[in-house]
Amino acid sequence: MSFDDLLAANREFAASFDLAGFDGVAHAGVAIVTCMDSRIDPLRMLGLKAGDAKIFRNPGGRVTPQAMEALVLGVHLLKVERVLIVPHTRCAVASNTEAELREKVGASAGIDASWQPFPVIADQVAALGEDVHKVRSHPLVPDSTEVGGFLYDVDTGLLEQKY
Ligand SMILES: [Zn+2]
Repeated sequence: MSFDDLLAANREFAASFDLAGFDGVAHAGVAIVTCMDSRIDPLRMLGLKAGDAKIFRNPGGRVTPQAMEALVLGVHLLKVERVLIVPHTRCAVASNTEAELREKVGASAGIDASWQPFPVIADQVAALGEDVHKVRSHPLVPDSTEVGGFLYDVDTGLLEQKY
């Protein structure tokens, strides 16, 4: 498998490229932390477009130290004023145990995967509350920054605000 199809698509994209000379700030003042899940289209689900938002994705949509770095940079240097933390329904890291994920990955890899950490989420809404608190209470996130925690339903496309 090569990358030819993707590079061909990229040349078409570049032929009508209209983002040149664009700055890197979040034009809608929005940052989103969400899951890597391919069912999530972070910009479209909020009516946003390229250039509007800073987006940080990882398995589960957790506020990891790296996500926090991105948010602090976003708030201070990239015009972020609102932060949305968005885990989703039917997320693999919230519906499997770490042992189950290690077993599935090990079966796919054909080798032992029991050493690979897969941080899983036992209570998704409680974890979201902790993540929202982590951002709101961070010393480098000013009180003027709005921080919300939402659950995205991959079957309806709806966001439900939890925090
Ligand atoms: Zn997920």
